[in-house]
Amino acid sequence: MRLSRYFLPVLKQTPAEAQITSHRLMLRAGMLRQEAAGIYAWLPLGHRVLKKVEQIVREEMDRAGAIELLMPTLQLADLWRESGRYEAYGAEMLRITDRHERELLYGPTNEEMIAEIFRAYVHSYKELPKNLYHIQWKFRDEQRPRFGVMRGREFLMKDAYSFDVDEEKGRASYNQMFVAYLRLFARMGLKAIPMKAESGPIGGELSHEFIVLAQTGESAVFLDKRMLDLAVPGEDVDYRGDLSPIIEAWTRLYAATEDVHDADRYERETEAANRVTARGIEVGQTFFFGDKYSVPMKATVSGPDGVDRPVQMGSYGVGVSRLVGAIIEASHDEAGIIWPEPVAPFGVGIINLRVGDGACDEACETAYAALTAAGKEPLLDDTDERPGGKFAAMDLIGLPWQVIVGPRGLTERMVELKRRASGERRTLPLDEALKAICG
Ligand code: ATP
Ligand code: MG
Repeated sequence: MRLSRYFLPVLKQTPAEAQITSHRLMLRAGMLRQEAAGIYAWLPLGHRVLKKVEQIVREEMDRAGAIELLMPTLQLADLWRESGRYEAYGAEMLRITDRHERELLYGPTNEEMIAEIFRAYVHSYKELPKNLYHIQWKFRDEQRPRFGVMRGREFLMKDAYSFDVDEEKGRASYNQMFVAYLRLFARMGLKAIPMKAESGPIGGELSHEFIVLAQTGESAVFLDKRMLDLAVPGEDVDYRGDLSPIIEAWTRLYAATEDVHDADRYERETEAANRVTARGIEVGQTFFFGDKYSVPMKATVSGPDGVDRPVQMGSYGVGVSRLVGAIIEASHDEAGIIWPEPVAPFGVGIINLRVGDGACDEACETAYAALTAAGKEPLLDDTDERPGGKFAAMDLIGLPWQVIVGPRGLTERMVELKRRASGERRTLPLDEALKAICG
């Protein structure tokens, strides 16, 4: 992408409305624009990151055997009356009436709809297990939308739903999602800690929240320090095998979230050995709730004995849009964002310090063509901005590599190569810089 043709409205001033780093940086880096409280337009740079995060989530769901579909944002109120949640959900649900006076709602989650789809087509245990997921916008009319994409009203969520014939198989499906979660957060450069959780309005007794540690997090967390050193399962993890040793290793040590207001408990927990207290951001939650929805919604399957039984369900959410903020909270410095490579909007920034200078233009075009061909998604700053502005903007948007091309260096056939994360700079010939980036 050539910056002169792109749409990157970088802000020089820090927007006053942003209270936390990630929100501030997303606004300054031209990623995001608020359209209403908790409702955002994702500008091109933000959109690229959102799509990368979404794709990592998708790949790990697919790897774990889940199957993607797409359910609508609008749902019929009557469907939610079947489960009893239409009234129970309260003011967080955005309720809508169409021209025929039919009651609709903007989905805050999809347990009811997926149970409705399931019961229409699946009737025998022989068709199980199944795990269906989608990545779709949700709406929750949060009392206090804040912190940008961290607590929006409209937000992008991946939600997966597992269906099994009995509880034991249901727990095996839960374990698959648990391991997939460990992998997908690690792929984004995040350390996410699973913590035993209350299941809240979703229901059921087995639940974990996945929490990224960050100063600005809304959850108070208490954990055994040794949690931080556990190894995340590699790409070779076999989801058909027994995953319980992995689950055991990741749930054996103490890790829990508590209500921040519960000050007493806060004090008491800190006294225990090896324990640290911190704050964190909930980036995902898993639930196994058995027949909580399948009973009222009559989603049954016949078992090996020919007798019908309610299907055993779990649900598994990841806050895709919240993750973009969480990654920034976990990875930034004074100058701006530091994207982990797998989610970076572009892989490399090429800075042309003197646009119009034949040698500079030529070197930049060579770099641009080579990096594009290598799949590195370069962003070429070919604007007339002053060098200081170009450096600041490139640091702010946080691409992993910078290739800096100026007339002085080129008289010696040299460019500068900068690593955004460490700040390390090297002066070297262009082809060597390209080699270093392409590996
Ligand atoms: P929270 O406790 O933060 O309100 P939740 O427990 O109500 O979240 P879940 O129903 O578990 O949320 O939804 C799954 C995931 O969706 C959460 O783990 C979180 O990452 C994300 N999420 C939930 N609410 C929001 C929101 N208002 N804005 C952005 N992401 C959200
Ligand atoms: Mg939750």
